[in-house]
Amino acid sequence: MAKPITDFSKLCVHTLTTRPWDLKQCIQNFSAAGIHAITIWRNVLEKQNLHEAKRMLDDYGMQVVSVARGGFFPSVEKENRHLAIDDNLLAIEQASAVGAPVLVLVCGADGRQSLEKSREQIQEGIEQILPDAKKAGVKLAIEPLHPMYAGDRSAINTLAQANRMAEEINSEYVGVAVDVYHLWWDSNLQHEIARCGRNGNLLAFHICDWNVPTVDFLNDRGLMGDGCINIPEIRRWVEDAGFSGCNEVEIFSEKYWLMDQIEYLEKIKNAYLKFS
Ligand code: ZN
Repeated sequence: MAKPITDFSKLCVHTLTTRPWDLKQCIQNFSAAGIHAITIWRNVLEKQNLHEAKRMLDDYGMQVVSVARGGFFPSVEKENRHLAIDDNLLAIEQASAVGAPVLVLVCGADGRQSLEKSREQIQEGIEQILPDAKKAGVKLAIEPLHPMYAGDRSAINTLAQANRMAEEINSEYVGVAVDVYHLWWDSNLQHEIARCGRNGNLLAFHICDWNVPTVDFLNDRGLMGDGCINIPEIRRWVEDAGFSGCNEVEIFSEKYWLMDQIEYLEKIKNAYLKFS
């Protein structure tokens, strides 16, 4: 059994979880709710002066856990692969500017080529941006995505694949992110979590739930307790692997985005204590 969660000291919320809010609203409302850690999605940084963002985060004592997302390296077109590198370098700059120690990578896939080819291009892409990541002090977290995204969002679909790639690149600046939504179904999950823990490669832990049935591939994630994932068990594996970072609530949900977001945040806190 996992040790029950009794406080919010390790609770981090992704800005995309409360999508109707801009960065300032996220910072103010999270802080008022007693949540002191945040993962920032780049959409809220688009029209944002980064110095101002950093000042706001500091003023509220908000710990930035990571910036999401970089990645999307593969393409059959060389030009697009170059554009992806540029965008990732910008993401590293943004992460560094807001004080994020980690940039999460949604690695990408191009359905016009094989998964193996896409994986090759992902590894090449990561190796290309690695010097800048090191210089900026930002670690790169390879996040495996559920296989339903293998055609367009990520050719890395199991933690074994992510672990292997991180091990091959072999840099303290490259590791993996474990997201229960993408990985809960994998019978090797406990073993693979132990593996990245052993190698010092476990950089992030994302939680939400898998709705049954799931009605939308992208934006029908459940709140912890809504679905069928045994989150406390996976959290125990992650903690047993030596991970002591935040539990990041990352929920894309058309249903919850329609709610009053202040009430939703309270719901998240309750579900966090009860079902995580
Ligand atoms: Zn995630």
